[in-house]
Amino acid sequence: MQTLHEASEPNGSRSNGRHLARVESIPASILLVDDAPANLTALEAVLEPLDARLVRANSGEEALWKILAEEFALVLLDVQMPGMDGFRVASMIRARPSTSTLPIIFLTALSREPSHVFKGYEHGAVDYIVKPFDPSVLRSKVSVFLDLYRKTKLIEQQAEALRLKERQELERRNEHRFRGVTESVADCIWAARPSGAFYYANRNARQCSPRPAGDSFSLLEAVHPEDSTELERLWSHALNAGEPFELECRMRHSEEDWRWHITRGVPECDEDGRILGWIVSATDIHRRKQAEETLVAAEQQLRLANEAKDAFLAAASHELRSPLSILKAQAQLAVRRLGNDTSDFPGKAFALIDRQVDRMARLVEELLDVSRIQHGRLSLEPEQFDLADLAFEVSERMQMTASAHEIRCEVPRGTFLTADRGRLDQVLTNLLTNAIRYSPGGGEILVGGEALGHEVRFFVRDRGIGIPPENHRTIFERFGRAHGSRYGGLGLGLTITEGIVLQHGGRIWVESEGEHGKGSTFYVQLPRSIDSEVLTTDGMAAEANANAVA
Ligand code: ADP
Repeated sequence: MQTLHEASEPNGSRSNGRHLARVESIPASILLVDDAPANLTALEAVLEPLDARLVRANSGEEALWKILAEEFALVLLDVQMPGMDGFRVASMIRARPSTSTLPIIFLTALSREPSHVFKGYEHGAVDYIVKPFDPSVLRSKVSVFLDLYRKTKLIEQQAEALRLKERQELERRNEHRFRGVTESVADCIWAARPSGAFYYANRNARQCSPRPAGDSFSLLEAVHPEDSTELERLWSHALNAGEPFELECRMRHSEEDWRWHITRGVPECDEDGRILGWIVSATDIHRRKQAEETLVAAEQQLRLANEAKDAFLAAASHELRSPLSILKAQAQLAVRRLGNDTSDFPGKAFALIDRQVDRMARLVEELLDVSRIQHGRLSLEPEQFDLADLAFEVSERMQMTASAHEIRCEVPRGTFLTADRGRLDQVLTNLLTNAIRYSPGGGEILVGGEALGHEVRFFVRDRGIGIPPENHRTIFERFGRAHGSRYGGLGLGLTITEGIVLQHGGRIWVESEGEHGKGSTFYVQLPRSIDSEVLTTDGMAAEANANAVA
């Protein structure tokens, strides 16, 4: 298996610096520049023993081209040349950053006058030799520069070798740590090259291999056949786009056993964002997946059971209606036959049956309403009316059943709206029934209302036991009760109430601190007209009138 370090240098071009060159063997080139070929030949003869490559240039221009093309240890430059003279060539060499430190020795037949010598040094000469020159002096001067060049090169090579060694050591340590970590984690881990070829798999990943020795590094071989097409698709998209991917899929656990894993692949990038390779990990989520599947199955069962229960309740409620009305009719007939005497048996018993049948009939109606609301079958019969009339009417009716309470109604006359009057009667009745039931100590109950532009709002406020804030939403759910069974009631009234309000396009909410004696206030806000299509012409005129009054 290739190491991670090798992976980061895919072409394997490595030098570990163990075979460092000796100083003398470091190649060096000298550029000889002179317009006279005979002079160049003479220079070659003198410098030949120095074991350096000698490169000729017959003009300043040619010298510059050669310097651009390769690296030199030294330039021997004739000063007097036709066209570009030596001083100009030297200035141009100095001007280029990459050759600004290249040593130049001027060769001249001119006088040794100090001004001339200065000009040479000003143009960057490191030395100045006057022709005809002494061969041994020239050779020894050149050899000093050659030596300097070679030693500098050697130091550079050593520094580079050291850097490489440190880098390799760092990579070796990183790889060691990576393997240590990947072998010890519970996840499966694979590493792949930028091309997508897998070259490493940790122990857990190798165990997912179908091969007996578990020596496969391939991710795709470890995946369940039904999931492999999708994984292959995501993997090739990730490779093309250079983007991470994620998939829940089954991985081989043993011959016949597959376990759910969440598989994620992420690219490894360098500082410039170039992809160096890929790391793919797979985390076992089998238990979670099984729990999810169990939950989904349980939910499905629950839903079916719930639907069956609802269907039963609806059917049973419907079927109960006719026997109840027959019972009531018979009980009333019996009381009449007894001369309406309900003070004693059997008249008293028939009157009791009559009242209990009423209770049962109400319950049956509630159950049917819940079923209608649930199935969106609650139909409305809108009409134009004054909310104040309805509020006073319901308040008065409820007052008759509540001697311990004082029901006050403060809805301003002329609060017109178009809605189903019968259903809103039911809403107010439910809210007042609750206000009475949940203020067992009696006290004042206020029914208020007002017009708010295109809407009307009314409320029922009591001073009873209140509703804890955490129950403000649940009490509107079916069978949702905030105070258990202590006060009677099934927990259906507010469900129906909210259903009616929503059907009108309105909303209902409660405000209560949940403290005894501070009570609760239920608010209902409705559009003044639920649906113009169901209004009669008269109704519309009446509504326009109502708006004018408001
Ligand atoms: P129930 O028949 O139980 O009264 P509702 O749906 O009308 O059914 O009300 C649901 C629950 O909301 C009640 O059981 C009660 O706990 C709470 N509740 C409703 N109205 C009031 C109120 N005015 N004050 C205190 N609690 C209330």
